[in-house]
Amino acid sequence: MKNVNINGRAYQWPAKPVVVICCDGSEPEYMERAMREGLMPNLKTVIAKGENKRGLSAMPSFTNPNNMSIATGRRAEVHGIGGNYLIDPATGQETMMNDPKWLLAPTIFAEFQKAGAKVTVVTAKDKLRLLLGNGLKFDGSAICFSSEKADKATMADNGIADVLAFVGKPLPEVYSADLSEFVFAAGVKLLKRDRPQLMYLSTTDYVQHKFAPGSEGANSFYKMMDGYVGALDAQGCTLIIVADHGMKDKHKADGSPDVLYLQDAMDEKFGAGKSKVILPITDPYVVHHGALGSFAQIYLYGPQVRDAADFIAAQEGIDAVLTREDAVKTYGLYAERCGDLIVISGGPNHSKVIGTSASKHDLSGLDAPLRSHGGLSEQEIPFISNVHLKNLPQPLNNWDAFFVGCNCVEA
Ligand code: ZN
Ligand code: ZN
Repeated sequence: MKNVNINGRAYQWPAKPVVVICCDGSEPEYMERAMREGLMPNLKTVIAKGENKRGLSAMPSFTNPNNMSIATGRRAEVHGIGGNYLIDPATGQETMMNDPKWLLAPTIFAEFQKAGAKVTVVTAKDKLRLLLGNGLKFDGSAICFSSEKADKATMADNGIADVLAFVGKPLPEVYSADLSEFVFAAGVKLLKRDRPQLMYLSTTDYVQHKFAPGSEGANSFYKMMDGYVGALDAQGCTLIIVADHGMKDKHKADGSPDVLYLQDAMDEKFGAGKSKVILPITDPYVVHHGALGSFAQIYLYGPQVRDAADFIAAQEGIDAVLTREDAVKTYGLYAERCGDLIVISGGPNHSKVIGTSASKHDLSGLDAPLRSHGGLSEQEIPFISNVHLKNLPQPLNNWDAFFVGCNCVEA
């Protein structure tokens, strides 16, 4: 069997389709609780023949860095995607990071396609589609589209057209569980029709931001997911289920968000314009988290790194303040796109999130107490498979998902 070498790792050509589900924001407790309540009989069957392990996400525990780590098999030090939002080192300007120009490494999908494989990628939000689909040739052997813009998919840009008719569902709302359900439904149909070597199904964490594990809103999502897990498993594939990151309550006892407005605090201490707090969670879809997460980049224009680090570390709910060099060493971040300091919040209840200035966060869309991610406490993720696994990478990370599906399946 041939190997495909991608970003320094050798992937074996899979005998069966490798299907990786990235269930966005799926803190391990969600599936555990739903299974205990008898809502995931298919997942129980999957686990009985395979594995129910835990893994870790890349830092920061945000969606794009982890999706791109899963898609490339490596951390941001190799692929360059550290969030949704950054200061462009070339211009010094704040900018969104959705453009594929920021992606520095080929994806596993593109490299497998080059080696002759069929590959299928379905993502919930369109913001990820261009990054995940980077380098794919839509010549009939690749498909990449989002459920958000499923109605706009064309053969030329996505390798598939008439998606709504094919899947048999209407275009889902962007803020809904349906957006993720559409991903699963498309995956089941495409696995049956195309039998691709690799399939990646990436959902959205709208439900997980809103509903805690064991709640009715969460349980109904996982019950829905279970039907599709069963349908994928029934078709004969290596199924791997991971998450991009976990999700924790980020509110106080009274339900209000537990926020440290770090730009306000820095401005008061060091003066206006002497620092810039960048929140890599910032994106156009902020309704369900108000751009509040447990990770920030700090750029300094004057204050000494040590003074700023000491000041930030003394704030309540701060888990770690790292220099750029330490963050690169510890978490495999991409140095050029890091601030002078990296700040991770959480505190004893994991609840602290970082904001910039109180006046800049519109929290009016938060119709439930804040749940979010980004910190160390959201690194733990499920790592589930429908087959027995051997020779697993240690530690096991979500970005090992395709490697494990190709190389670690017990015969
Ligand atoms: Zn996510
Ligand atoms: Zn999220």
